[in-house]
Amino acid sequence: AKDCGRNTYRFFVTQMNADAQKRMRIQTDLHTALKNNEFLLHYQPQIRLSDGRISGIEALIRWQNADGQMLSPSEFIPIAEQSGLIIQMGQWVLREACRQLAAWHQQGQTQLVVAVNLSSHQFRYGNIVETISSALNDFGLPPQCLELELTESILIQDTESVISTLHTLKHIGVKLAIDDFGTGYSSLSYLKRLSVDKLKIDKSFIRDLHKDQDSAEIVRAIIQLGHILQLTVIAEGVETEQQLAFLTDSHCDEIQGYLFSRPVAAEHIPEILARIGMT
Ligand code: C2E
Ligand code: CA
Ligand code: CA
Ligand code: CA
Repeated sequence: AKDCGRNTYRFFVTQMNADAQKRMRIQTDLHTALKNNEFLLHYQPQIRLSDGRISGIEALIRWQNADGQMLSPSEFIPIAEQSGLIIQMGQWVLREACRQLAAWHQQGQTQLVVAVNLSSHQFRYGNIVETISSALNDFGLPPQCLELELTESILIQDTESVISTLHTLKHIGVKLAIDDFGTGYSSLSYLKRLSVDKLKIDKSFIRDLHKDQDSAEIVRAIIQLGHILQLTVIAEGVETEQQLAFLTDSHCDEIQGYLFSRPVAAEHIPEILARIGMT
C-alpha cells in the first residue's frame, strides 16, 4: 500500500512537471515570437443584414511559429494571460489592427470599422486608455472606427477602476461590444449602467439553433433585449443558410461566420469587398 501511494505521488509529480514544462515552453516561445514578429492578424467580415454590406471586420490573432506551424489562439492566449505577456501582445494587436484599418481607409473604405478583442488582464493592467488613444492618434483614425470586444468577465468586475476605464473609453468615442454574450453571468445590470453599443450572441447558441428549441428561444430573447436597450445585435458562428434565415426572421442586425467568410489575411479583404460590390 505504501508503494502504491508513492507511485501515485510520483505519477502526479511527473504529470505536473510535464504540464508545467509544456506551459513554460510555450511561454518562452511566446517571448521569442513577440521579439521575432511571428504574430499576424487575420480578419473576418461582419455583415449588416439590412443592406448586405460589411459593417465591420474582427481582427483575430494568429501565430505562425518558426517551424511554419499555425497555432490557435485558444492554445496560447490563456498562457499569455497567466504570464502577463498578453499586455505586450495586446498592444501589438491594437496597433497592427489600427495600422491596417488606416490603410483600408486610405484605399477609400472609410466606412470600415475594426473590432479588436481585449483580454481581462490587458483591460485591467495594460494601460489600455493610453494604448488606444496613441494608436488612434498615430494612425489618424476617428475613434468610432475602433470597436473593442470585451467579455462579460471584464464587465462584472464592478470596481471603480473598471467603470472609470469604460467611461473614459466611451468619452474617447470608441465602440464597445460584449463578446460571447449569454455564456457568462446572469446579472444583466451592467448593461444598463455601462454604455455598451453591441451584443455579440455567442456561437454556441447559433450552433444549436436548429438542434434545440431552447437555443432558438434564447437567441430571439437576446435580440429583443438588445433592441429594447437600443443596442446593435450581432450573431457569431453563422455557418448555414438555415441559421441566417432564422436570424433574419428574428431581426438580428449583423452576422459573422464561415457562411460569409472565414477569417482571412488582410490582403484578401479587398477581394471580399469587391465580391459584394463595395469597391
Ligand atoms: P472569439 O473572440 O469568440 O472569436 C471567434 C472565434 O470563432 C474565432 O476563433 C473565429 O475564427 C471563430 N469563428 C468564426 N466564424 C466561425 C464559424 O462560423 N464557426 C465556428 N465554429 N467558428 C467560427 P479563433 O480565431 O480561433 O479565436 C479564438 C479566441 O481567441 C477568440 O474567440 C478570442 O477569445 C481569442 N482571441 C483571438 N484573437 C485575439 C486577440 O487578438 N486578443 C485576445 N485577447 N484574444 C484573442
Ligand atoms: Ca471576439
Ligand atoms: Ca465570441
Ligand atoms: Ca470565445
